Amino acid sequence: MSANRYPLEVDVAIVGSGPTSAAYARILSELAPEARIAMFEVGPSISNPPGAHVKNIGDPAARAAAQRASEGPGAGAATVNSPGEVKAGTRQARPGTFLLTEGYAADGEDGLPVAAMSSNVGGMGAHWTGACPRPGGAERIGFLDDLDALLAEAERLLGVTTQAFEQAPLPQKVRELLAAQVDQDRVAEYRVQPMPLAVHRRPEGQLVWSGADVVMGEATRNNENFTLFDNSLVRRVLTDGAAASGVELSDQLTGQQYQVAARCVVVGADALRTPQLLWASGIRPEALGRYLNDQAQVVFASRLRGVEASQGAGAPGAGLSEQSGVSWVPYTDEEPFHGQIMQLDASPVPLADDDPVVPGSIVGLGLFCAKDLSAQDRVEFDDQVPDFYGMPSMRIHYRLSEADHQVIERAKQQIVRLGHAVGDPLDERPFVMPPGSSLHYQGTTRMGTADDGTSVCSPDSEVWQVPGLFVAGNGVIPTATACNPTLTSVALAVRGARRIAEKLNNSLLMSKSDNRMSE
Ligand code: FAD
Repeated sequence: MSANRYPLEVDVAIVGSGPTSAAYARILSELAPEARIAMFEVGPSISNPPGAHVKNIGDPAARAAAQRASEGPGAGAATVNSPGEVKAGTRQARPGTFLLTEGYAADGEDGLPVAAMSSNVGGMGAHWTGACPRPGGAERIGFLDDLDALLAEAERLLGVTTQAFEQAPLPQKVRELLAAQVDQDRVAEYRVQPMPLAVHRRPEGQLVWSGADVVMGEATRNNENFTLFDNSLVRRVLTDGAAASGVELSDQLTGQQYQVAARCVVVGADALRTPQLLWASGIRPEALGRYLNDQAQVVFASRLRGVEASQGAGAPGAGLSEQSGVSWVPYTDEEPFHGQIMQLDASPVPLADDDPVVPGSIVGLGLFCAKDLSAQDRVEFDDQVPDFYGMPSMRIHYRLSEADHQVIERAKQQIVRLGHAVGDPLDERPFVMPPGSSLHYQGTTRMGTADDGTSVCSPDSEVWQVPGLFVAGNGVIPTATACNPTLTSVALAVRGARRIAEKLNNSLLMSKSDNRMSE
């Protein structure tokens, strides 16, 4: 018999260990230090401190092993970075992620062919780019008066800065060229600017990318009442009457099943697996899994003109160079796409053999489009067919509407204009990535102001009709954002965590005063 490594009872059970679950752990550690907190993550620990970004792992072999260990059922499959040409129409995941093997597109629909997930301590936050723009215009959640204060707190937790690449030689030039194209009719807030990034530099200059480890911070790591359990699949949220009362889980190392009682449960298991877990628990509000939205992504590449090798960004490699940077063309309601412009240290398309690329001189342009929201776009679950983890398998229903096609068309025209503005395009045609590529899935456990069938949770992220059950992650965002969503979902997690802290502290006060009265 293997020993039970889990507690019988805690105050808060947190499912998942990505940035949003980490935000709950951090805020609770700060505001309710007496609360006993257990965090359960189905994937393994892959980095140190737990949740740290894999880009901070210096040794390439160790980094690749950490990525593979995050790929759950997809581990070992070819990724977009695998050697060899990516064939058109081939579904390949980003390193550290895995794709749905089936159910990703219903007949006659667009589907989400490259919907991806990560299973590891730190979740996708161990693999992300760290772009943390604030939402603007219709992206914002109008009914949250405290949204800006919450976003500021999320920036603190994620360690967001616009300064990390300020010494880099070329981004300023890129921004000037982009600004000349788009800034004319924009107020300051919506003009071209450095992308806020979750990254910092060590005193000796090395870049450190924020993951869930930074969000948890020392406050969580030093909290004796907090424990993280990896390789632990939560199979069901338990309820006592209507209220959340704990979780049922399986220890993935032994296969044994356990129950842990909890006064509050937080599910931050990503925008596909959070509704899956609620479904598996028999918690099935009308809006569960609906309003699923992904940001259609249009990409293009240009080469900066007149860049000397001496201005370049160091040795060529793969992806974003240390010395280059990320620029931001903000979303506006009039132009509903969000621009993430990154200098690359290698060309994304093959160039002639005798054509040396000055690292940092290739500019990768990406526009993410806001979706036309529909309740019909949804993830459904099949109780009869288990997935790799034994949970109800997913079936995606997803269509791009006429309005979506129009926005994508406008984004294509805009990206070509931007590409010409920054330099010489490598190819005249922009490329529309397959749906799901954004890795920003939202809406499936959306927040609302009333339990009217169009939302799953309250503005505090507490599931309607299930007191004590909170949902976290991009699925909670009710608006159609085009900007990268993690900052916003961490902000929403801060609000939920404060609510739990308030509940726990109030009941602690009450039990202390009861004890005094009975003395
Ligand atoms: P996740 O980080 O996905 O974590 C969820 C965790 O829950 C996972 O570890 C999973 O294993 C676990 N889990 C699921 N089900 C269960 C269960 N039943 N029991 C126990 N555990 C479970 N976003 C941005 O905003 N900006 C970017 O620049 C950006 N770039 C990205 C680049 C890449 C390559 C990738 C992969 C993602 C990127 N993202 C970006 C997306 C970003 O990483 C996610 O928005 C963010 O990680 C979401 O945090 P989360 O805590 O909600 O979920």
